Amino acid sequence: MEFSILAEAFYKMESTRKRLELTQFLVELFEKTPHDVIAKIVYLLQGKLRPDFEGVELGVAEKLAIRAISKSSGSTIKKIEDEYRKGGDLGQAASIIMEQKTQTTFLVEDITIERVYETLFKIANLEGSRSQDMKMKYISSLLNDANPLEASYILKILLGTLRLGVAENTVMDALAIAFSGSKENRKSLEHAYSVSSDLGKVAEVIATKGIEGMEKFEIVLFNPIRPMLADRVKSEEEAMEKMGEEFAAEYKLDGERVQLHIEGDKVVLYSRSLENISSYYPDIIEKIPKAIQADNIILEAEAVAMNENTGEFLPFQELMHRRRKYKIEKAVTQYPISVNLFDILYCNGKSCLELSYKDRREKLEKVVKEDEFVKYIPMAIVKNENEVEDFMENSINAGSEGLMLKMLDKPYQAGSRGNYWLKLKREYQNELGDSLDLVVIGGFFGKGRRTGSYGTLLLATYDEDEDTFPSICKVGTGFSDESLDQLYQILHPKVTIKKNPRIISEMEADVWFEPELVIEVVASEITLSPIHKAAKDVIRKGAGLALRFPKFTGKIRVEKAVEDASTNEEVITLYKGQKKVAHDKNLM
Ligand code: ATP
Repeated sequence: MEFSILAEAFYKMESTRKRLELTQFLVELFEKTPHDVIAKIVYLLQGKLRPDFEGVELGVAEKLAIRAISKSSGSTIKKIEDEYRKGGDLGQAASIIMEQKTQTTFLVEDITIERVYETLFKIANLEGSRSQDMKMKYISSLLNDANPLEASYILKILLGTLRLGVAENTVMDALAIAFSGSKENRKSLEHAYSVSSDLGKVAEVIATKGIEGMEKFEIVLFNPIRPMLADRVKSEEEAMEKMGEEFAAEYKLDGERVQLHIEGDKVVLYSRSLENISSYYPDIIEKIPKAIQADNIILEAEAVAMNENTGEFLPFQELMHRRRKYKIEKAVTQYPISVNLFDILYCNGKSCLELSYKDRREKLEKVVKEDEFVKYIPMAIVKNENEVEDFMENSINAGSEGLMLKMLDKPYQAGSRGNYWLKLKREYQNELGDSLDLVVIGGFFGKGRRTGSYGTLLLATYDEDEDTFPSICKVGTGFSDESLDQLYQILHPKVTIKKNPRIISEMEADVWFEPELVIEVVASEITLSPIHKAAKDVIRKGAGLALRFPKFTGKIRVEKAVEDASTNEEVITLYKGQKKVAHDKNLM
């Protein structure tokens, strides 16, 4: 299939933000697409080559791309950089430069999607000393044969700046319409996506096998399942209202959620955002197979840092020491953990998702043996508020955050947040009722003791509709020397020359970061703000929302993708909630 068809579709999609229009463009594109390229198109649409959990990264730097454009167009580096500065988009700049070139030369051959995809794939897999030269060669070979529009999209994909604004749900709507005739069938696609986390594969199956293929879609070992999430409740009383007469209470441990895929000695671990995190936990990889009494299995657990002497659970921050590429063996002995299992999703070739919570827990206890390292998460069946309170007490004393409450007769709902699971934390650390997970977008250099680090960070929410990161506050409190140091190490490589266009802020930060890191903050209040951009114009025209007295809690949420950060919607709900509390208090 010709790449120009895709480039033209991208061009149309970039011109609109309307979901219905986007869906229509996608349907037209999918209908023209041969079945053997549809998966590739679905990945490319999202600026990817493979599903996230495979970790295939293009990693092409701007400088290298500029050199490749220069080589293919004969234009000077300076001219390209000037054009880039004017528009702020290198893909666009390349298209203008190439436009000038095509007036004098002829294109050599049409480029196909297959060729672009394979070349990009080769670029992603290049490693070693000569890789930069090879990357440049591959890029310029594509650009040589590309027309200006094609060149601009090849570069956007390479640099990770393609922003079509197509959410996964929109892609699923379009696939359902194109291959089953109706959007109503999206539920089946959602199921397939939730059990495979691979939208390309979902597209290929529905294109070749239709809606029946979706219904028969099965879990595949070593393809992560999208996690089930919990709603929050504020009190035991509210929990009782929602959970009914009898339900399970489990400790809510403060560690990292891990999905374990195991077959014999082969073990792969996935994080909450489905990243392969096996390399951080060589101890789990080594020890877990001994505890398993099944041929193959998928489990969920909370990996928690432990005090080996007292057996106490330690806070999440301790696990940060494991996030390193080198000397991991040392970190394993210095920062021991335990694996606390709370669910079983697959066993001996069969899905367990449809089993009730009660049956899954029973199965878990049957097929996994506990030992020093592998435990079942502490659980009690509770019937009234007192029992919930007592178990909460035990949980807090053991060093955990609170309780997870789970309905006994309900299945595992992959990829969705709902009332079957509730989270109840002991204390609401701030007047807002809960903490916020915010994206770090900018930094200000520290003074005095904080020289050499970012003393203050600029934070943003996630705007789901626009796929952007509008600023909500600056935070300069709550940092220990150690966390300042850690944040500097993580953030320094993310500094960009130009502010990423997804960042929405009018502040003048000392440095801008690629929006890739999420941290947790608490605050006293949400107020209207003329400066910050979160939920701008929603409550009052011209004003955004801002956090008052924000404080870093010490949690760097490395396991969260930026799209999992607190959204504008959540902040609006919190803002309205505090208004209501104030109003209720006035009435009392
Ligand atoms: P989300 O609800 O989106 O995951 P979050 O990570 O901010 O957001 P938390 O308040 O931390 O939400 O609660 C959910 C997390 O609690 C799970 O993702 C998991 O890592 C952890 N957890 C701890 N104990 C349990 C348990 N017994 N059952 C399920 N999850 C648990």
